[in-house]
Amino acid sequence: MPELPEVETVRRGLSDMLPGHTITDVSSDWTKSFPNDIGVVRKYLIGASVLQVNRRAKVLLIELSTNYTLVTHLKMTGQLVFRGKSGEHFGAGHPTHSLVGDLPDKSTRVTLFMDHGTLFFNDQRKFGWMKLLPTAEVPNIDFMQKVGPEPLEPAFTYAVFKARLFTRPNSIIKAVLLDQAVIAGIGNIYADESLFAAKIHPEMRVSDISELKLKVLYRELLAVLLLSIEKGGSTDKNYVNAEGKKGSYLTFAKVFRREGKPCVVCGTTILKIRVAGRGTHICPKCQRLIKGK
Ligand SMILES: [Zn+2]
Repeated sequence: MPELPEVETVRRGLSDMLPGHTITDVSSDWTKSFPNDIGVVRKYLIGASVLQVNRRAKVLLIELSTNYTLVTHLKMTGQLVFRGKSGEHFGAGHPTHSLVGDLPDKSTRVTLFMDHGTLFFNDQRKFGWMKLLPTAEVPNIDFMQKVGPEPLEPAFTYAVFKARLFTRPNSIIKAVLLDQAVIAGIGNIYADESLFAAKIHPEMRVSDISELKLKVLYRELLAVLLLSIEKGGSTDKNYVNAEGKKGSYLTFAKVFRREGKPCVVCGTTILKIRVAGRGTHICPKCQRLIKGK
């Protein structure tokens, strides 16, 4: 699933391509992917130009000159690919051949025709969507009201991080990290990697973790998010289409999907366990479960 760093990669790429350009037409083959009233589409989407591309958690906000915003969620398998008339191209999101292949293809759900090229919203599993909403209403939608602070904003200090975790002091740390109401956009990969780096067992209760380890966790969480953005998430530029080797979300992972392999720190075999309903990767030696301080 595209996580925060991948969605941020999409945002940055589209920010270079779309602002100042006009949407001339739209087509969609799947109502759930584009659940918008045709009258609203004609009035507020077609003919609109893109002002900016923003992101909140894993939701992309393509803001239009008509005071409407195209709110886009990539969900499990979504990706956005822009192909320009002058040969410029950009694609990012879920890594499949559609990032680099001919479009539209079987996974294309929405096609936005623009004055300078075409934006394809591809989504194999059809869980994603593009909703046209008045820009002023976007902060009021249920998701925006509930979602926690952005971890990459300057305002997200250690004090804020700790205060957010302690809204659920008796819960296990991994469940709290994955709770989008506590912090926005932390997915399974980033929870496992940051807990490993901070040597914290994912089933530790928040209130049982030392201040020292929480500080390391804060630092490592931001570091792994930034590293992933720096690596470009999964884009058409790093998508490898050879011998079935697909572009991956996190090729630099130290524990994620490394079960059965030796820990990079101590050599102990990495285990896959189930925590908070999610497959969870740990080094049983580096990450001890300690109850009570
Ligand atoms: Zn280890």
